[in-house]
Amino acid sequence: MTIAMQQPISSPEKLDSIARHLFSPMGAPGVYGRTGLYEGIVRALEDYITRQRQSGTHVYRFPPVMTRAMIEKSGYLSSFPNLLGCVCCLGGSERDIKAAVSRFTCGTGEWTDSLSSADLVLTPASCYPIYPIAAALGPLPADGLLYDVAADCFRREPSNNLDRLQSFRMREYVRIAKPDQIQSFRKEWMERATGMADAIGLPYRVDVASDPFFGRGGELMAASQVEQSLKFELLVPVISQEKPTACMSFNYHREHFGEVWDIRDDEGNHAHTGCVAFGMDRLAVALFCTHGLDPKKWPQSVRATLALD
Ligand code: 5GP
Ligand code: ZN
Repeated sequence: MTIAMQQPISSPEKLDSIARHLFSPMGAPGVYGRTGLYEGIVRALEDYITRQRQSGTHVYRFPPVMTRAMIEKSGYLSSFPNLLGCVCCLGGSERDIKAAVSRFTCGTGEWTDSLSSADLVLTPASCYPIYPIAAALGPLPADGLLYDVAADCFRREPSNNLDRLQSFRMREYVRIAKPDQIQSFRKEWMERATGMADAIGLPYRVDVASDPFFGRGGELMAASQVEQSLKFELLVPVISQEKPTACMSFNYHREHFGEVWDIRDDEGNHAHTGCVAFGMDRLAVALFCTHGLDPKKWPQSVRATLALD
C-alpha cells in the first residue's frame, strides 16, 4: 500500500519557529521541555487513539524504566546495545558516597567514576514490559490477548532534528495470539491507521521497513526483516521527502516474544505477537509542521477529528 506524498511539509524557518514555540532546550540534544500548546495536541492525539480502542483491550501505562533482566532476556541488548540506556547510581557506604560527591564539590575529579549500574534500564519501547505480564497469566484464551500500552521511551540517538528525540512518548496496541490472528490484527491496523492519518490531514506513504539492528550482523537481520515484511512504517515527509519520518510502525515479531517468555496459545504452541506503535511526539510535530502553529486555524475536519472544538 503506497500513497503518493506531497512536498516536504516544512522549511528550515518553519522548523525553527516550531522549535521555539513548542520546545525549550534542556541542554542535551533530543531532550526538551514541552510547552502547553504542544502538550495539548499530544493529549488530543492520545484521546483520538483511545477512541480507536477495541472492546476487550487491557490497558497498561508503564514507567520510563524497566528491569535490566527483562531487557537482557528480551534480546534488546543483543540487537540494539548502542541505543540502550542503563540507570546508574552511587552505592556503597556513606563514606564511599561522600567521597564521590566531594570529588565533584572540590573539583578534584568526576563523581560519576563511582557509579555502578542499577537493576533498571530506560524503557526503549512501550511494548517490552507487557510480554512477561501476559506470560504470567498462563495459556492464552482462544482469541488471544489485546493490550493498549504507553511509556516514555529512551533511545541513545542524540540529534538536533525535531523528529529524533532521545526521550519520546510511545503508544501501542499489542496483540498476543496465533499467527493468523496477528496477521489480521496488523492488516486491519494498517488500514485503520492510514485512515487516521487521512483524518488528521497528514501526507504519508506506507512502506516496508527494518529496525536499526547493531553492527554487521545487524545488516543481515535487517535484510531478513524486510524480506519477510515483518515491519511497515507510516512515513510523513516532516523534514524531507528523501528521508521521511516514521510516525507509526506496524510490527510482526513472529514467535520471538512467545519463545522468550514461554507464552503459549490454547493449543500449547508458542504465541506470536505484533504491535502497532504511534510515535506521539513525531505525530504532534508532524501536525504542527503540516497545519501551522495555531491549532485554532487548523482545518475544521482535523479539529473535529481531534475534538479540539
Ligand atoms: P519503532 O519501535 O518502530 O522504532 O518505534 C515506534 C515509533 O516510535 C516510531 O514509528 C516513531 O514514531 C517513534 N520513535 C522511534 N524513534 C523515535 C525518535 O527518535 N524520536 C521520536 N520523536 N519518536 C521516535
Ligand atoms: Zn511494540
